[in-house]
Amino acid sequence: MRPFGYERAADLVQASRLGRDSGQGQTGSPVQFLAGGTTLVDLMKLGVLRPERLVDIGPLRPGLSAVESSPGGLRLGALATMAEVADHPDVRRDYPAIADSLSLAASAQLRNMATLGGNVLQRTRCPYYRDPSWPACNKRRPGSGCTAIGGVARQHAVLGVDDSCIAQYPGDFAVALAAFGAEVELSGPAGPRRLAFAALHRPAEGRPEAETSLQPGEVIIGFAVPAGPWTRRSLYLKVRDRTSYEFALASAAVGLALDGDRVREARIGLGGVAYRPWRSREAEAALNGRRLTEASAAAAAEAAFAGAVTHGGNAFKPELGRRTLVRALMQAAGAPPAGRRG
Ligand code: FAD
Ligand code: SF4
Repeated sequence: MRPFGYERAADLVQASRLGRDSGQGQTGSPVQFLAGGTTLVDLMKLGVLRPERLVDIGPLRPGLSAVESSPGGLRLGALATMAEVADHPDVRRDYPAIADSLSLAASAQLRNMATLGGNVLQRTRCPYYRDPSWPACNKRRPGSGCTAIGGVARQHAVLGVDDSCIAQYPGDFAVALAAFGAEVELSGPAGPRRLAFAALHRPAEGRPEAETSLQPGEVIIGFAVPAGPWTRRSLYLKVRDRTSYEFALASAAVGLALDGDRVREARIGLGGVAYRPWRSREAEAALNGRRLTEASAAAAAEAAFAGAVTHGGNAFKPELGRRTLVRALMQAAGAPPAGRRG
């Protein structure tokens, strides 16, 4: 690992000042915030991220780790650990898709260390990105090309990809946040602001090195998830090569507001198959107002993957993604509402 500087932020103002060169998650950013370190330190050891300075935001944890549930929704501090939120009784009862997305991720040791803010900002697991001996990777070296196109692309994305990058967004929690229309709370040199979670991760659009819409010096301080009948009747289904300690090949976060067997409103997020946390409004539109049956769920899944683009090894993903979504919808419809609010 290359030498780097280390500073501890005593408060948010100091964090933003020390982190003013943190950029948009680019591989080349000279400053990185350090939370649990489970993505950052890995990528520094691999020589992928090469920051000159780390700004440790761990000291901010006492003020930024609360889990607060109210009738209007859920607020999660960005420095809460994955384990704290996965195991929280209010989250398990009223937002099961969020609890499942966290408890099915990584390992117990990682979940005890890793934070929510770091989780949503984890980087792709594309093997060419993670190994600097491959010269062509637009995300790591802008303008160098994409080795995965024409290379080994089994894990790669089929939705939201372009000719510059087909990397898969690997996280689980962000898929549930996308489905539920969450907001992300930020604090930066210009003060606090809120952003739709859907706008946090940028589309590839020929510039995959710019991963987020964070401004330099901005720290994620929390997430706000509005409550609805779909948050209560929700689940996260994750399909992977082995049932523990593995990233998703395909996943679905689904929430349903039902009138009898008719769907009043569906919320659908897809993971393992897309370039960034993916909400499928096409699938939601295909279900809303209809009876939920295997046939209508299959039609929604068809709509979700209508725009899929495959590259060799990941040709199986649209079918796996469709089947995952159908199974998740049927399970959510059969599950009794788990919550306390009506
Ligand atoms: P860090 O490593 O500290 O930071 C990650 C990035 O986010 C850095 O760029 C950092 O600068 C930035 N950052 C962190 N916090 C903030 C903030 N508050 N504001 C602004 N920037 C910030 N994840 C899954 O979802 N599913 C899995 O199945 C899964 N499996 C895994 C298996 C392994 C072996 C490993 C190593 C990881 C796995 N992960 C998985 C990823 C893991 O969940 C993330 O590494 C972790 O959540 C990152 O959180 P952290 O606090 O350690 O972040
Ligand atoms: Fe790099 Fe993206 Fe291509 Fe992977 S898919 S090699 S991350 S440009």
